[in-house]
Amino acid sequence: MPPETDELRRAVDHLVDLVNAPSVTGDEAPAVDAAERIARDDLDLSVLRMEAEPGRDNLLIGDPNPRIILCTHLDTVPPHIDATLSDTHVYGRGACDAKGVAIAMLYATARLFRGDKGDGLACLLVVGEESTHCGAMAAAASDLSPQHIILGEPCGLDPAIAQKGLLKLRLSARGSSGHSAYPELGVSAVHRLLDAIERLKRVDLPNDPTLGPTTMNVGRIEGGVAANVIAPSAEAILLFRCAAPVDAILAEIRSRIGSLVTLEELNRAEPYAFNALGLSPGPAVPFNTDAHTLLDLGASMSLMGPGDMRCAHSPREELSFEDLADGIDAYERVVGNLLAGE
Ligand SMILES: [Zn+2]
Repeated sequence: MPPETDELRRAVDHLVDLVNAPSVTGDEAPAVDAAERIARDDLDLSVLRMEAEPGRDNLLIGDPNPRIILCTHLDTVPPHIDATLSDTHVYGRGACDAKGVAIAMLYATARLFRGDKGDGLACLLVVGEESTHCGAMAAAASDLSPQHIILGEPCGLDPAIAQKGLLKLRLSARGSSGHSAYPELGVSAVHRLLDAIERLKRVDLPNDPTLGPTTMNVGRIEGGVAANVIAPSAEAILLFRCAAPVDAILAEIRSRIGSLVTLEELNRAEPYAFNALGLSPGPAVPFNTDAHTLLDLGASMSLMGPGDMRCAHSPREELSFEDLADGIDAYERVVGNLLAGE
């Protein structure tokens, strides 16, 4: 069904504009410019640019000294995909993760300011979430001092109860090379690496009633030189989504792989329990957000947002007009209650 109200028609048009503005992580400027235009020129909101890195700005939209922040990200994973429309949905890169969320936040913010209820509220649209979290890091190091942050990622409009932690590791194996016709004369690093991974696949990693299972992804693997050479080196990048404290999982991994490979920790984030805003919470989310980066601001944090993350990072990414409308309503309601309750 086409959008029913003028406001939703404009919101859909703005989402199409924002999706069409390229924003692959590291080159977010066109989308930052587009979001600034939408907020300032079309929604009549004040906009402050806050540099995250040279040429890469976060946007703070609304009250420059906010007590409540609606926060999501403008960057997207590659490749850029232009927007297309059906009678019911917007498609394209970022339609749900997280430009649809950003438009819902901006429209809710505009409604509250139009009704003179926006004092103390700002939208923080950051860069760099899909990679180094540099936008959130810059915000965390800024003078902002919010009491509450509502993070937006597509996970439905019931606030998520928690998010899993994360542990990214590099496993490196060393061997000694030689002619593959005489395997007894060398040690294959590829075989060692595969043995280590096979051991890890059989580990019973922690399962939590709220967070669900700890999962492992062998995301990248490389090594060796040729089919007839015993491989002198090999490495793999693994990502664990953690349902228990990261150190406990790391200790289990170390004990299983023994001395087969060396292990380097590349990144970690502990599981985080969100504030459910007094509402009945939705399930824990298995993906990572800017939450752990924003901890330094000392605010309580919630996570909710329109759309379904399962279509994100794929060529099928989409957001329905209905979800966009519900997202605007939900953010307006929740933030309105928070501001009124203070
Ligand atoms: Zn996202």
